[in-house]
Amino acid sequence: MATRPPDMSEDSFAAFLGAVTAALGPEAVTTDPATLQRFRDPYTYREDDRRDYSAVVSPVTTEEVQAVVRAAACFAVPLWTIGQGRNNTYGGPAPRVKGSVLVSLREMNRILEINRELAYVVIEPGVRWSDLAQALVADGGHLWTSVPDLGWGSVLGNSLDGGVGYAPLGDHAANLAGLEVVLPDASLLRTGYGAHPGNAAWHAAPRGVGPSVGGLFLQSNFGIVTRAGYLVSRTPEAYAPCQLTFRGYDALVGVVDAMRDLMLTGVVTNYPALFRSVELVGGEQVMTPGSDGWIGRFALYGSRASIDAGLQTARARLGAVAGADLDASVFAGDDVTGLTRHDQRVQRGIPATELGDPEHLPFGPNFAHLDFSPVVPQLGLAVTAAEQFIAAHYAERRLPLSGGILLRGRNALVISTTFFDASDEAMTAVAYRSYAQLVETCAARGILPYRTNLDSMDAIAGHLDFGDSALPRFLGTLKDALDPGGIIQPGKSGIWPARWPQPAPSTGTRPSCRR
Ligand code: ADP
Repeated sequence: MATRPPDMSEDSFAAFLGAVTAALGPEAVTTDPATLQRFRDPYTYREDDRRDYSAVVSPVTTEEVQAVVRAAACFAVPLWTIGQGRNNTYGGPAPRVKGSVLVSLREMNRILEINRELAYVVIEPGVRWSDLAQALVADGGHLWTSVPDLGWGSVLGNSLDGGVGYAPLGDHAANLAGLEVVLPDASLLRTGYGAHPGNAAWHAAPRGVGPSVGGLFLQSNFGIVTRAGYLVSRTPEAYAPCQLTFRGYDALVGVVDAMRDLMLTGVVTNYPALFRSVELVGGEQVMTPGSDGWIGRFALYGSRASIDAGLQTARARLGAVAGADLDASVFAGDDVTGLTRHDQRVQRGIPATELGDPEHLPFGPNFAHLDFSPVVPQLGLAVTAAEQFIAAHYAERRLPLSGGILLRGRNALVISTTFFDASDEAMTAVAYRSYAQLVETCAARGILPYRTNLDSMDAIAGHLDFGDSALPRFLGTLKDALDPGGIIQPGKSGIWPARWPQPAPSTGTRPSCRR
């Protein structure tokens, strides 16, 4: 039987689809099973139907997004929004609630402005990292953007979800500079100075005046963002990607502390990464499961003189860590063709195009992975303790472990990646069980992840229980006030409307919805 929104009759669903089709046109609305299948979470068991969509709608303008939200509010239809839906490992394009209608913003993909003077762009939600990186090159290369490893995801979706990159502007959520949002009642809100028509400082001074509400739309379900200012960087005179090698936990403690010093004193301005169980073999980085080898990367940006000085400081500080070895190359800041390795390219804003040939991945086309990424203070001992604890968790379960540690100056993400075969139900269940166990054991140690898979959102929200769960209660109050029908991404980050599941009329349509 075709999937429908929860508690919704066939007639009501047909009336909802009719309302959306009237506003968007027939090409933009589909219930075709093959199309719906393309929007399932690729890292769940192949036969798992817990998160199937009932329909996909593809608005191309803000007004069309408003029309979809208006119809959803009338008929109590839960929506889930994606920019590109490449949020793999956190749920991909899939919704929290089975039967949701997907609002795919893939086609809403214009770069509305490139502001060279002030170093920001204005984008629609479907713009991919690769689109933005290429557009900035085509614009003359004066500006460049931080990117994640792969260029196929959306700038906005990744940033709203707290995604990370490896350049100086690698905290992607922090680059959001003025949002336009369709609220659950279909009204349109602009944050900060966007609320003041004609104010030219909207994207240059994103907080505006008064309470700053932009953050309410991150990892949340209070609205659908249809446009955003986004900060980018000026192209530096020179760029120096650096490679660090070391072994064992003692050196890890020293490297994490040394990198903190270099970051907090402004010598290293990007987001360095340290990869576990990787060896240099003939100059190539080779993943070597079980090995105590680490390879780190960071980069320096600026004038040649500042890079020379920075390298001298970095060599002195990292040289004090026994066994740590640093290798650096210096390129002209605009030399993007000379960068041959992924680690050189990604720190300079050039993403990889795809994950790699499926034939070379574990389990081939059925390859799936789950990343558990707790946040710990960037103190060598704290990071290493978390690393050891997590490594022991995977070793006890004989699960593969790869990934590494992303350094953010004051805190670090200890990213543990495990692989499994998504066509194997038992193996997939083991991976998800391990993830749920890690959530609990880490929470008991005072640690939570920076972002999580759909399966664990409720569990993590359940640990935010300070002050009689004041924070979840605050968010729940907002949710009920803004979205009493619970139509926007119910369950995202464990935020549910009080009246969920919202009863829908069993037959026919509500008269008020025929507008
Ligand atoms: P990407 O393709 O960049 O990896 P997604 O499109 O999957 O990212 O978006 C990641 C998450 O961010 C989604 O699951 C959704 O919860 C949220 N999201 C994406 N786009 C929007 C948007 N325009 N407005 C509100 N939330 C969004």
